[in-house]
Amino acid sequence: MTDPDFDHQKLSNRILLGLVLGLVFGVLLNLTVADQDWAKAFLIDGVLAVVGEIFIRFLSMLVVPLVFVSLITGVSSLSDPKKLGRVGGKAVGLYMLTTGIAITLALAAAIIVKPGVGANPTEVVEREIAEQPSFGQVLIEMIPRNPVEAMANGDMLPIIIFAVLLGLSIAMSGTRGQRIGDLFADFNEVIMRLVGFVMLLAPYGVFCLIAGLGATTGWETFLGVLKYVVLVLVMLVIHASVTYSILLKVLAGLNPIVFFKKMRAVLAFAFSTASSGATIPVTLRTVEQRLGADNKVASFTVPLGATINMDGTAIMQGIATGFIAQYFGVDLTLGQYLMVVVMVIMASVGAAGVPGVGLILLAGVLASVGLPAEGIALILGVDRLLDMTRTAVNVSGDATITCIVAKSEGELDESVYYGSRKDSAETKPQSA
Ligand code: ASP
Repeated sequence: MTDPDFDHQKLSNRILLGLVLGLVFGVLLNLTVADQDWAKAFLIDGVLAVVGEIFIRFLSMLVVPLVFVSLITGVSSLSDPKKLGRVGGKAVGLYMLTTGIAITLALAAAIIVKPGVGANPTEVVEREIAEQPSFGQVLIEMIPRNPVEAMANGDMLPIIIFAVLLGLSIAMSGTRGQRIGDLFADFNEVIMRLVGFVMLLAPYGVFCLIAGLGATTGWETFLGVLKYVVLVLVMLVIHASVTYSILLKVLAGLNPIVFFKKMRAVLAFAFSTASSGATIPVTLRTVEQRLGADNKVASFTVPLGATINMDGTAIMQGIATGFIAQYFGVDLTLGQYLMVVVMVIMASVGAAGVPGVGLILLAGVLASVGLPAEGIALILGVDRLLDMTRTAVNVSGDATITCIVAKSEGELDESVYYGSRKDSAETKPQSA
C-alpha cells in the first residue's frame, strides 16, 4: 500500500485553508443564524461539534501509544546511554531558559503597557480555584505507581520515565534486547503511518473546530479587556518569531524561515485543538520527517516539552498577573515580580498540555504574591482565543529546542531540514 502522506506541502496548505474557511464560516454563522434553534442543534452543537471532537479524539488516541513506542525505540537504539543524560540535561536547561525569557518579556510588557489600567471587563465568570501541587508532589508523581494506570490516565511524565527505563534495559540486554528493540522500531514505523492517516482528516477537523468557535464566541466580551488581549497576542508573536528565530540561528545555525514554513501544519493543529498534548503525534512526525531530527532525540524532547515547556502559557500568566494587580490597584515589588517568575516556571513544569490549564494554574501564581485568585474571572471570558494562540507557541518552543538539541548531538539531518520529507525505512526509494 502506498504512503497516504504523499504531499505534505499540499496537506499543510489544505489544513491552513480549513482554518481560514472555518473562521469565515464561523463568523458568518455568528452574524446571521447562530442564535436560532435549528442552527444550534444541527450545525453548531451538531456537525461542527461532533466532527471537531472526533478529530481531537483521533489525535488523542495516538498520543500514549506513540510516545511509549517511539521513546522506547529511541532510547533502546542509543549506543551510549550517557547520551540520554546529555540530551535530557540540554533539553531541560533550554526549556527552562526559554520559559524564563518568556516570563521576563511578559512582565516587562505588562509593566510598560499597563493593560489593567482602565480595563472594564464586561463578563466576569466565576470558576472554582484549583490548588497548584507542591514541587515535592510533582516529583513524586513523576514515578508511576503503575505504568498501565499512567497510560490509562495519559500522564505524560510517568509514561516518559517508564519508557526511558524500559528502553535502557532493552539496550543493555544483548541479543534478546535487540529483538525487542527491533520489534518496537517496526511498531514505531506503523504508528507513524497511522499519524499520517489521521493528518489527512485535519483540514475538515480544523475547519469544524474553528467554525464552531467563531460561531459561539461573544466578541463583545473582548472590548473591555482589549488591551490585555492584544498585548498577550503581540508578545506571543514576538516570542515565537524573534526569540525562537534567534535561538535557532545562534545555537544551531539553522534558518528559522524554513523551520516555521515546515511547522505550518503543526501550528494549525495546536491552534485549533488548544492542546500541546494532543498535538504531540503531529509535532513528533514533523520534527522527524520534515525537520530531520533523529528519533533518538525527538522521541524524548517532544513529549517532555509538551509537558514541561510552556512559554506561551508563561507569557499569558505574566501579563495576566500584571493586569490583575493593576486592575486591583496593587503595586508589586521587585521581590514579588521575582516570585512570579519562579512560580510561572514551576506552573509551566507542572501543567499538562491540555486546553485551559494555564489559566487554572494562574491561581497559584496570584496567591504567591497575595493577589485575589478571583481576578481570573476577569479574563476567563476571553481565554479560549489566547489559549489557542499560546498553545501554538508552546509547541513551536518544543520543536525549536528539539532541533537545537538534535543539531548539537549530531542527530539533525540538514538535507531533510532544508529539503523534502525524510522517507521511512520502508518507503525509501531504492537507488539504482
Ligand atoms: N493549552 C495549553 C497547552 O496545551 C496550556 C495552557 O496554557 O492552558 O499547551
